[in-house]
Amino acid sequence: MEERNTSFSSLPLPLEIATKLYADSTSIKTASSDFGKLFQETPFAVFYPSTISDIVHLVKSSYTSSSPFKIAARGHGHSVHGQAMAKDGVVVEMTSLSGGIKVSWSDYLGFYADVGGEQLWIDVLRTTLERGLSPVSWTDYLYLTVGGTLSNAGISGQTFLHGPQISNVHELDVVTGKGEFMTCSKNMNSELFYGVLGGLGQFGIITRARIVLDKAPTRVKWVRMIYEDFDIFTKDQEHLISKNYGLNYVEGSLIMKKSPANNWRSSFFSILDEEKVNSLASKRGVVYSLEVVKYYDEFSVQPINEELDDIFKDLSFKTGFIFKKDVSYVDFLNRVRIEELKLQCKGLWDVPHPWLNLFVPKSGILEFNQQVFVNIIQKEAKSSGPFLVYPMKRTKWDDRMSATIPDEDEDVFYTIGLLHSARNTEDGKIIDDQNKKILNVCAEIGIEIKQYLPRYYTTKEEWIKHFGAKWSLFEERKAKYDPKMLLSPGQRIF
Ligand code: FAD
Repeated sequence: MEERNTSFSSLPLPLEIATKLYADSTSIKTASSDFGKLFQETPFAVFYPSTISDIVHLVKSSYTSSSPFKIAARGHGHSVHGQAMAKDGVVVEMTSLSGGIKVSWSDYLGFYADVGGEQLWIDVLRTTLERGLSPVSWTDYLYLTVGGTLSNAGISGQTFLHGPQISNVHELDVVTGKGEFMTCSKNMNSELFYGVLGGLGQFGIITRARIVLDKAPTRVKWVRMIYEDFDIFTKDQEHLISKNYGLNYVEGSLIMKKSPANNWRSSFFSILDEEKVNSLASKRGVVYSLEVVKYYDEFSVQPINEELDDIFKDLSFKTGFIFKKDVSYVDFLNRVRIEELKLQCKGLWDVPHPWLNLFVPKSGILEFNQQVFVNIIQKEAKSSGPFLVYPMKRTKWDDRMSATIPDEDEDVFYTIGLLHSARNTEDGKIIDDQNKKILNVCAEIGIEIKQYLPRYYTTKEEWIKHFGAKWSLFEERKAKYDPKMLLSPGQRIF
């Protein structure tokens, strides 16, 4: 890091805070960019806290100042549209903290981990595994911070079973927009607790989360089945999450000529199997891959293969198109990292990522397939994806939290991930336009989607519509915990 810039005398900051502010070109460049690589906003300075009280002092200094400045916590900067940026404000590099990861047990909670908001999920996994334990709800990729994913929801193939990561938190420590340090849970400062979970960083900076743990398995059976018909594919997905069949993970994705079976989410298929699946996809235009996982313990006598066969006998995938793997629990959870490292070597990871993530009501999913997957994604073939589609259950989401899902009585809704990589900024913009077209098409045909990791709202009205019945509470909570609207300005809500 270059020498600290000492020109912060205009800011009303105590010396111990001012010395942790930097405006060197490396710090500013990092804080002005993110994984999306499509958007830049320059902060005034970057703050490297060593303790939580540094964050308290920083926020309090702004809050009590006659000229308050905006503040954005930056986890790992893996947002795609500037959500962790703060134009002309201060970006707090959370990873300069080392809140640690501590595993404990209580009669009331069972096993849990107290984890710094800056911690990466991969480190939470490694540390808890030392005790034979593990969190239960994950994201597909583990190099994301706990504070970053809890500000959104944190979803993956385990969500149908355990709910999103925000449903698996007992307690939080938060620095509010007034610079107050508060501990909150369902029973203590519950308004703040529910507000922060899925709250897009609007109510406070998460400095600790108490995460639910369970006994960790050692191995997983990992299976993919190919479908030619979307209707049958989604019926089988819904069937698998409808009852407790003992599966631990259910996802799904599209395979097309330009979006091959193996991609950066995982090289699941052997060379021969991939050829077979890709050739079917080329013939059909698009096929659908249903992906399931069952955990097991290598030392148990559980008849795991028989159990899986029993579950699969009721499914209608294409005959001969079932593919199985047996891998360690860690290799499964950390599957994206293996592919990331390959792409990094080829210089293909740090490219623009114009992603669109959506929640689609069950009533609209067949129409969504036709109008979006077939008529736009398949026909226009602008990138190789991957393109994800899998169901979740509304009952696993706590409506008191800020996270927003489709308004529909059906228990099931779908998550869609259009995870594009673009060759350059120009291509990124073309795909960005396609994303906007998809949002327009959904609006025209009346599919009431919600954006997950929202990034395309430009007006207050759109945010009000996004939060729906939760908007007035969201606004009230903002007025209570961040009345000067200092926090996470990159979300562009207030
Ligand atoms: P940042 O991008 O740094 O921050 C995100 C937002 O949270 C910002 O508004 C920021 O101000 C705020 N914030 C950050 N830290 C804190 C904190 N401690 N307290 C309060 N607010 C904070 N998401 C899923 O749900 N499931 C997936 O499977 C998944 N896979 C992904 C795979 C890849 C390769 C990538 C790049 C992203 C993926 N995501 C996934 C999206 C990811 O969860 C979000 O982008 C998340 O915000 C990234 O975490 P981060 O730590 O980088 O947060």
